[in-house]
Order: sequence, then C-alpha cells, then structure tokens
Amino acid sequence: MTTVLERPIVFDSLMATVAAVDDLSPHLRRVTFVAPRIAESVTAGPDQRIKVLLAPPNGTKLDLPSGPEWYAEWCAQPADERFVMRTYTVRALRPEVAELDVEFVLHGINGPASAWVSEAQLGDEVGLLLPFAVDTTSTKGLLHSGVDYVPPATSVERVLVADETALPALAGILEQLPAGVRATVFVAVPDAADIRPLQGAADVTWVTEGSLLDAVKSKTLAPDYAWVAGESSMIKAVRRHLVDVVGMPKASISFQGYWKRGEAHC
Ligand SMILES: Cc1cc2nc3c(=O)[nH]c(=O)nc-3n(C[C@H](O)[C@H](O)[C@H](O)COP(=O)(O)OP(=O)(O)OC[C@H]3O[C@@H](n4cnc5c(N)ncnc54)[C@H](O)[C@@H]3O)c2cc1C
Repeated sequence: MTTVLERPIVFDSLMATVAAVDDLSPHLRRVTFVAPRIAESVTAGPDQRIKVLLAPPNGTKLDLPSGPEWYAEWCAQPADERFVMRTYTVRALRPEVAELDVEFVLHGINGPASAWVSEAQLGDEVGLLLPFAVDTTSTKGLLHSGVDYVPPATSVERVLVADETALPALAGILEQLPAGVRATVFVAVPDAADIRPLQGAADVTWVTEGSLLDAVKSKTLAPDYAWVAGESSMIKAVRRHLVDVVGMPKASISFQGYWKRGEAHC
C-alpha cells in the first residue's frame, strides 16, 4: 500500500496593528495591517480566507487562541465570553514590509466586524489567524489551505459571480487570470458608486439593482468552471441555475456562502 503524506498546513494567530485605512468606495474600506510575523505568512490562492479576531462582547481583553484544541474550546465557551471571529480575504500580502490588506464591507454596525471597521483608526489592534504553511500540491490540499477558487488546469471559459463581500477575492482572481482564459463576471454592489475598475476582466456585468441570479440568467453561458461567492441564498440559486439550465456538472462549480442574511457568520 502506498501512503501519501500530505504537507502540514499551519495557521497561527498574532496581534496586528492598523497601519492604514482607505475608503475605496462608499461601502468598501481597505485596512492595512502590520505585524512582524506577517512577513512569514503565505497564501494558497487569490481568495485566501483568514480570520479577524476581536475582543469578546463582554468587554474582556482578546486572548489569542493557541494549542491544537483551541477551536473546540472556543466553541464550548458562552458567546458573550469568547472572542469574536469573522472570516475575511487576504486582498494583498506584502511580506517584504510585513503588511497585509483586507477590504471590509461597511454594512452597518449590526455586526461586530463591520462595527469595528467603521470606527477603525491607525494604531488599533486586532487578532489575525493567518496561514504560515499551505499545501498547493493538490486540489484537496488547496481547499484545506483555505481557498475555494481551484479551477482545473484545463479550464479556459469561467463564470465568476460575486457580491460585495466577495469583490476582494474576485479582484485578486482576475489579477491572476492566466492568458488565454476567458472570464464572464457578474458582481453585485450596494451602490453604483461602489463600481470600480477590475483588472483583467473582459466581460463584467455590474448589478446595483435587481438580483445577481437575474443577471446570470440574462446571458447565454457555456463555462467549464464557475466560482460563485456571496450571500448564502444567492449562491444556492445561482448554482441551481448553472446546473439545471446551463447544464454544468456540480463538480465544476465552486460555491461559497460568505454571509447569511439575518444571521451572524464566522
Ligand atoms: C471565505 C470568506 C471570505 C470573506 N471575505 C470577505 C471580505 O474580504 N470582505 C468582507 O467584507 N466580507 C468578507 N466575508 C464575509 C464576512 O465574513 C461576513 O459579511 C460577516 O458576516 C461579517 O461579520 P460582521 O461581524 O460584520 O457581521 P455578523 O455578526 O456576521 O452579522 C450581523 C448581521 O449583518 C448581516 N450582514 C453580514 N454581512 C453583510 C453584508 N455584506 N451586507 C449586509 N448585511 C450583512 C448579517 O446577515 C447579520 O444580520 C467573507 C466570508 C467568507 C466565508
């Protein structure tokens, strides 16, 4: 019997300091974090997920997680006493200057992460859970490393569907699109003023009114791979359309719920 050894994937937490806050549009704010250990962190792909960790709701200080059982221990704690954990995308990593950018959607102060970013100031500190070793040797390894956009090497015709929370990932995906690969893009933003240039995309439909599903339905598509990310009910509806109407095999669609309307999501 052959034993295949997978590379160990390492995620670890650190405290990071806000080094810059820039408004990219009315609903999207870029925060640059700096910390010495960011210089050693890595990404497995353009939609690399990370965790932002904030102080617990009861006002106690943020204690960074550690040890192999930290997640089980975190789950077992009362919600009021455990640190707040939310998922975000690495928009840019600059290890040479130990900096990392995250683009946060400003969706109001009804969620702790959105509330935090709406008041974020230079010098503020948050916890980050970042990858320090990823496995890029296989699809499984990539998925375990925290990316969902894993097109097959043979793919040349892709459909990319994103709402505002997946716009940072989409922007990174398009910047790294190989020559010869065509992407048909659908992206929803809360306001026309949130529309911005996307490098590398030939065919972009911006949706500011109506649904992403209707925009996708309005085009004749024949993709060999699709990546769909955003609000939970949207991604399910778009996937159903791609399978039932466009005729894509389920295995050719990566779909990822980035948030759920009316519910906290970590
Ligand atoms: C893999 C992955 C990558 C992600 N990358 C990013 C990213 O780069 N940038 C980013 O901004 N988000 C990103 N998200 C989404 C983000 O994690 C969620 O929006 C999260 O709910 C924000 O936490 P919160 O504390 O602000 O709100 P929560 O406490 O989780 O939710 C509070 C309320 O706000 C609502 N809500 C959450 N998000 C939105 C929204 N966008 N618009 C309207 N209402 C909302 C919820 O439905 C709920 O009612 C990502 C999620 C995943 C799974």
